[in-house]
Amino acid sequence: MTCGICKAETEQKLVTYTEDVNNSVIVIRNVPATVCTECGNVWYSGTVAAQLEAIVDHCLKGIVARGTLLQVADVAVVNYAEQVA
Ligand SMILES: [Zn+2]
Repeated sequence: MTCGICKAETEQKLVTYTEDVNNSVIVIRNVPATVCTECGNVWYSGTVAAQLEAIVDHCLKGIVARGTLLQVADVAVVNYAEQVA
């Protein structure tokens, strides 16, 4: 597969996905993605994108359920493989 932006080669890599939501930052490590070797653009497959959305949703519910966590520790770090398995 070639990059849709610069047409360079792409490779399969594990990347770190971050999402900034509701004053919290959710960090999901080891996410399988296609990355451009030239411009660094990142694509996620439909399956992975759906899983990321589900993981973010779970994290937000966990943060909200635990109440004060939102103020005390506003960064959630999760491992993609552990969430999906
Ligand atoms: Zn590119």
